[in-house]
Order: sequence, then C-alpha cells, then structure tokens
Amino acid sequence: MAKSIVSIAKGTDVEKMLHELLSPLGGVRSLIKPKSRVVLKPNAGHVSPAETSVNTNPELIAALIKEIRKAEPKEIIVAEAAAVGCDTMECLRVSGILKAAEDAGVDRVIDIKSDKDLINIPIRDAISDLKKVRLPRFLLEAEHLVNVPIFKSHCSMVFTCALKNMKGVVQDKVHYQMHQTDLAAAMMDLWSVIKADLNIADLIRPAEGFGPHSTIPAKFDCLIAGRDPVAVDATACRMVGLDVDNVAYFNAARQRGIGVFEQDLIEVKGKSIEEVYRPLWLPYMEGFEKYPEYKIDTEGACSSCLSLVGLTMEKLKALGEYEKNKDIHVFVGRKKEIPEGLDPEKVLLFGDCLKKFHSKGILAEGCPPLEPHPLWAIVDRKSYSGMGPGFRERMAEEGPPFEAYMEQLKKEKQAEEK
Ligand code: SF4
Repeated sequence: MAKSIVSIAKGTDVEKMLHELLSPLGGVRSLIKPKSRVVLKPNAGHVSPAETSVNTNPELIAALIKEIRKAEPKEIIVAEAAAVGCDTMECLRVSGILKAAEDAGVDRVIDIKSDKDLINIPIRDAISDLKKVRLPRFLLEAEHLVNVPIFKSHCSMVFTCALKNMKGVVQDKVHYQMHQTDLAAAMMDLWSVIKADLNIADLIRPAEGFGPHSTIPAKFDCLIAGRDPVAVDATACRMVGLDVDNVAYFNAARQRGIGVFEQDLIEVKGKSIEEVYRPLWLPYMEGFEKYPEYKIDTEGACSSCLSLVGLTMEKLKALGEYEKNKDIHVFVGRKKEIPEGLDPEKVLLFGDCLKKFHSKGILAEGCPPLEPHPLWAIVDRKSYSGMGPGFRERMAEEGPPFEAYMEQLKKEKQAEEK
C-alpha cells in the first residue's frame, strides 16, 4: 500500500516556509494546473481577530495566493461559509483574511452562505443521517480545492484541523443538520462528495486551551501539507502530543475510507515530527477525576461529548456555578438504561444518544450538543436544543470571565511544570 506523504516546514518567514513545504510534494507547478480555477478554503468561521488564532493566519493566505500565482492559474478564489449565526464577510474582514487576500491579488472572495447556484449531491452509503448535501456549483467545478485550516483545540472534536475545516463549504441548513447527527460521521460523509486535493494546515500559532472560542495562541512556527487530510491531521496531533487513539474522529475517517492515520502508513518529508514536537495544552483530554464533586457517567461516550463535558465543568467554575450545582448527575454516551429513582431535575442527559430517556432528565440535544447547551441546561435546569433567540449574546457575555479564568489556569499549569 502506498504511503500518504505529508510535508512539514518550520520557520518565521511564511512565504519561504510555504515554498519549502510544497517542494517535497512536487512544488506548486506540479500541484496546480495552469489555467485552472483554484479555491482556497480558510478557516474563518468566527468573528475573531488574527491574534486570537481562532481563524487561519492571514499571512498564510497571502503567501499561498502569491505561491499559487506562480503556477499561472486562471483564477484564485477565497471561499468560506462561517459558523451558524456568523456573517461570513464579517468573519473574513475581522480575521484579516479579506485584506490579506485582496492585497495579495485574489480574484474573488465568495461567501458560500449567500451563493444561490447550488447543486444537490446525494451521499451514497452514508454512515451518518446526512443523505444529501447542497454544494455551490463553483466549488464542484473548480479544478483545485485547497483546504487551509488552523489547528486549534475544539470542544466538540478535541481539536480541529483539515478534516473539520471542510464543514465550512456548506450553508447553515446543512451545517445545522450535521450537528443534529453524529458530527464526526457526517463530516466524513461530506468528504466523500467534496474532497480538497491539497491540505495546508496552519500551525504558525495554533490555539491551545478551550477552543474554538476561548483559545490561547501558541508560537509553533510550522506548516503541514499533504493530499490526505487524515494523514495531515494525524501528523499535526503527533506534533502537539495528542494521542490519535483518543480521538474518535479518526475511526470515522477509517470507516469512510477517507485516508490513513497510522504512523507507519505516513511518510513525513521536510522536518521530522521529533524536530518540531512541542506539546500543546489541550485540556479536553485531562479526565474527570478533577471533578469529584460531580457524578459523571461517561461509559460509551465519544470524544466529542467527553470534551464538551470537560468544557462544561470548567465553565461552571469560571462562572461561579460549580458549587451551586453539585447535585447534578451527568450521563453521557450510549446507555441501555438510566437508573430509576433519580430526580429528573438533577439529571443531565448529554446528547442525542440519551434522547430516548428524556422523561428521566434535562436534555442537551445534539450529537454532540451545541457548545453552551449542557452548561445552560445545568444552570437553568431546563432542556436545550437548537439556536434560539439570544444564543450568541449569552455566549458573548460568558466569554470574558471564562477567558480570564483560562489564563489563570494556564499560569498555574506553567508554574507546576517549572
Ligand atoms: S451524542 Fe452520543 S453519539 Fe453523539 S457525540 Fe455524544 S456520545 Fe457520541
């Protein structure tokens, strides 16, 4: 079996680093056909400035446009569909990507959410409930789709990089449907009908901490590239000390046959993993013994929900709600039954796999649930599903106290390590 090739480059001059990165893959002229249409898909899903590392580094987008121009394509497009509830053009503007792309000579910038020329694509042998998607014609007809994610910690997936970034090629309705089914499986189903032919992951300043909203940027100065998004993501995980066996994500990719994550099936060129290795703080994987005051039953849970449980516990602490809600019993993961005799007001049922027990507790719906819902369900003692009015506003209000709390946590961790 041929190995997936992944290239790693390290440096502080982004243009030079990008050129070095693509050389082991044949260089830009062999990767991009002349007179072709090239679509760049950054991660610009949230209204956050470049210094937060929530979105792809604008310097990388600019360098990539200049590098791809050397291959003499017909057209270079930057396209994105921001997270549900976010305005794509606002995200591109605030992130600095719009200006960087325009200054570098991009031909068009497209908000996928407002594109009207969509094609219905059936998903054959779907492993999730996503049986079809509507995708923009320009994207399907482009000769090249270059996926340019940032690596960051993520509450519903532990981390996000190449595989998850492609969720941003669909409009809100499909995006929302993906969150109502098994998200990891839905992402792989999406990859089965729209593939990036090149993935360039931004680890210039990846984000540790409680992403995707409460990030701490970490200086890393690296880029990773490859045609196989699974191999790119797995290599990124190994570079930052995240065990791929702990991320359910990769099994869904294997089930769908998207790529390989086993180390012996990946050939790393350029820098080695050892040369660039630097563990990032990804607190979603630290375990639940840290919360002895709460009963948390995690048997049968996916990493997506597990990481969200961790985030929920930390947010309860940050918002001064942890002590007040110690009577809550959290159930997460596929279960045959929920014990009898518990007060339904004190039982949190986490995610769609416990929907059938709704009469026995408060439900945070979704697979996984939307990020703030488990927290709000505990604090308000009521079930949550979908994005109702005031969703973004409440999240924005809770942001600053959590960020201050997280900075403090990180300092404590650094002090412990010294
Ligand atoms: S709701 Fe169930 S199946 Fe869905 S991510 Fe959570 S644990 Fe996994």
